[in-house]
Amino acid sequence: MPGLAPLEIRQQFPLFFHHPELAYLDNAATTQKPRMVVEALTAFYEKQNANIHRGIYGLSARATQQYEQVRAKIAEWLGAAGPGNIVFTSGTTAGINLVARSFLEPRLHAGDEVLITAMEHHANLIPWQMACRRKGAKLCVIPMSRAGELDMGAFREMLSGRVKMLAVTQVSNTLGTINPVEEMIGLAQRKGIPVLVDGAQSAAHFAVNVGAWGVDFFAFSGHKLYGPTGIGILYGKEEHLYAMEPANFGGDMVRNVTFEETTFAPPPQRFEAGTTHIAGVIGLGSAVDFIRQLDTPAVQAHLKELGQYARALLAEIPGLHFVGEAHQSSAIVSFVLDKAHPHDVATFLSAENIAVRAGHHCTQPIMDFFGIPGTTRASFAIYNSREEVERLAAQLREIQKFFA
Ligand code: PLP
Repeated sequence: MPGLAPLEIRQQFPLFFHHPELAYLDNAATTQKPRMVVEALTAFYEKQNANIHRGIYGLSARATQQYEQVRAKIAEWLGAAGPGNIVFTSGTTAGINLVARSFLEPRLHAGDEVLITAMEHHANLIPWQMACRRKGAKLCVIPMSRAGELDMGAFREMLSGRVKMLAVTQVSNTLGTINPVEEMIGLAQRKGIPVLVDGAQSAAHFAVNVGAWGVDFFAFSGHKLYGPTGIGILYGKEEHLYAMEPANFGGDMVRNVTFEETTFAPPPQRFEAGTTHIAGVIGLGSAVDFIRQLDTPAVQAHLKELGQYARALLAEIPGLHFVGEAHQSSAIVSFVLDKAHPHDVATFLSAENIAVRAGHHCTQPIMDFFGIPGTTRASFAIYNSREEVERLAAQLREIQKFFA
């Protein structure tokens, strides 16, 4: 296998020309953008800008065509049946909220249950919690071990006839755990339970095939896969999308409007009320082109190697404890240092041009589970190198000595 050349890839990311010394290890929060994505955004605004769908003139027709081509491209990339399964949203959060509100709530009743896992991001927790609260249903949490692995035995037992939805993250943004989502989808669907997979941390680096998985919903954000902020995707099975009422109302999502009544456009248009982030869609299309030109097995091998290398070097630092040590884990490494608060660790690292994230990572229940206020998290992407991992480990050693 040829392997990835992170330094060559790094040259495709303009931000690193402005910050040549920066070790950017906060990719789980957002990734940097390759030149082709930045240029696609600029080119759209410079040469192509017009509102879509309603314009008769050439610019608008071309903008519409570009926009819809991205929908088709993403459908193909995700293994969806067609573009009609792809809803443009503002991100993972918006996609999950839409499913909770428009799909789940109308079919949720008092006494029903919704299953999530102990390692969900708040975006894949609160929308379900709110739906349960409004309907008198119960939010049930699949437990995990101290290593950050789901208890699959408990999960199987929780799959009762009362469960109306399962929502699970493919990769934990805090622990790095890769969950066995395909197995979970199969087990849930055998009981007729629809499944949403949160792909925020997986879409960039894992081969996703929603069609082969048979998953009901899959949500992700463009900005975590080298694309723009403010744009994301909700994949939904056709029959579900047709059964769902829109959550936002306005222009571009209707068939016929009178003062008495409105009929809605078919999906996905009915979920895209108002002027959407058109340039963001174009930029997301470019990000998908960027990812598709990479060798996916090489990307996965590179990230796995970086994650393992980081864990091996950090494990040698006295007083450093990993938070999340799942057997199957991605290139996200969370840890705490004895005596040093995660925010202090991140501040010290920042002074050495190493960008990491510190805090609860929008997963407060995980912090409660481990009895800690937060972690320091290093998360890697295709442009990161072993040398950056070594810099991180060397600085952590210094920090640990300082606080000892
Ligand atoms: N789910 C997971 C696992 C995440 O890591 C994140 C963001 O960090 C989200 C959901 C929310 O994504 P966004 O803020 O782009 O909507």
